[in-house]
Amino acid sequence: MITVSACLCGVNCRYDGRNSYHNALMEKLASEDFLPVCPEVLGGLPVPRTPARIIGGTGYDVLKRTARVINDKGRDVTGAFLKGAFAVLAILQEHSVSRCYVKDKSPSCGFGKGSLTDNRITGVCSALLDQKGIQVIEIPSEK
Ligand code: SF4
Repeated sequence: MITVSACLCGVNCRYDGRNSYHNALMEKLASEDFLPVCPEVLGGLPVPRTPARIIGGTGYDVLKRTARVINDKGRDVTGAFLKGAFAVLAILQEHSVSRCYVKDKSPSCGFGKGSLTDNRITGVCSALLDQKGIQVIEIPSEK
């Protein structure tokens, strides 16, 4: 089994109420069973929602509680991001998922190696899955 960031599958779960449908990925996975998952929604955040970013590190640091996730209104949403990440992990373990395709530039799903300023860092959920030995593959946005 595979999981995919739900917005890449066309689910309108992004912060702005839209999706990030990825035509090439959906064609590639056409003959495979996969589960769409959105850690931020699973963490209890609404759609739409105020965008958020990791302050003070990457998703790995949020897991160590040395960095926080703060939204653009200044609200600390770290708890919701952690709740969503562990909810995704539980789903993956229940379905014996070994591979995840994730959206880039997301404080939850991103799996980049860039800097805090270009927002291409590893997000909270992908950091947790990586730590648990699950293969995480970042999909660059088409738009
Ligand atoms: S990038 Fe991840 S957290 Fe953000 S909307 Fe897509 S699935 Fe949800």
